[in-house]
Amino acid sequence: MVRLCGGDLELLAGYLGLSVVGELRGRGVHLVRESVGGDRWVWRPRIRFRSKPLRQCPFLVNDLTQATYRGLCSLHPHHKPLVCTLSPLAREVEETPAGVQERWSVVPPVGGCPGFGKGEPLPVRAPAALKGRLDAEVAWMRGWIEASSDLEDEDSAWKALAEFQKSHRPIQGGGQILDA
Ligand code: SF4
Repeated sequence: MVRLCGGDLELLAGYLGLSVVGELRGRGVHLVRESVGGDRWVWRPRIRFRSKPLRQCPFLVNDLTQATYRGLCSLHPHHKPLVCTLSPLAREVEETPAGVQERWSVVPPVGGCPGFGKGEPLPVRAPAALKGRLDAEVAWMRGWIEASSDLEDEDSAWKALAEFQKSHRPIQGGGQILDA
């Protein structure tokens, strides 16, 4: 499962040749109700992994012509979700009375990753090249929490999302980490 934000939805719709994000329903994207603290909720867009023949992201293309098994992201590099573009960096965002607080960490992409923890440590910080996308995600989530917190089912959430995107279209473009 991959959590998405508004910019990711626009990129994904563009990649699939869809004119509106509502058409992503049934194309591997679901809205799932998640708690965001207190009595507030959000209908969070997610890419749901398929279960057969392997449990994997529907946008992963397996290259079985290689001598060794290789998985390639078909959205790389320009349509990739922000959370995947950041990996192995991970960001947690919390809205506090003092403003937005961010926490950054490094998360191994898979358990037992052989390169993890080796070599010179690098600073864990926000990649400057992604600042526009990171800021847009916070603004989009803030608005979408307000718009979707009280919705009771996924049908209502998809309708609300279609309306919400008309006035909260995030920035376009798939930035890549160049300076991390
Ligand atoms: S990097 Fe690509 S294939 Fe992997 S989870 Fe993200 S979207 Fe799916």
